[in-house]
Amino acid sequence: MASVTPHRKKDYSVLGSFASQRAMGKCVYCNHCQPCLAGLDVGLNNKYYDLARNHYENLAVKAESCVRCGHCDSQCPFHVIQMARMQEIAGYFNC
Ligand code: SF4
Ligand code: SF4
Repeated sequence: MASVTPHRKKDYSVLGSFASQRAMGKCVYCNHCQPCLAGLDVGLNNKYYDLARNHYENLAVKAESCVRCGHCDSQCPFHVIQMARMQEIAGYFNC
């Protein structure tokens, strides 16, 4: 049976001296901060949030432009209350 290698704390502090100053404070999803005490995948949580935000910011017209006319609500075959969704989306990205 193979022996288990004891966990040793790794020191990645040297990486900070290679990174450009512009990168400071920005998560690069490297997961060197693992393990998270709550079990979060810190890198992926940040990556998905940043991806969504970047895509959203590139939209020509964003959810906050909704004038609550109700047209989409009346046309949606799946009965989505889209006016409420637009408010939720606008709130989420503008928090
Ligand atoms: S994943 Fe963790 S270690 Fe890597 S940049 Fe983000 S916060 Fe820092
Ligand atoms: S209610 Fe629907 S159709 Fe009207 S502005 Fe908002 S998103 Fe557009």
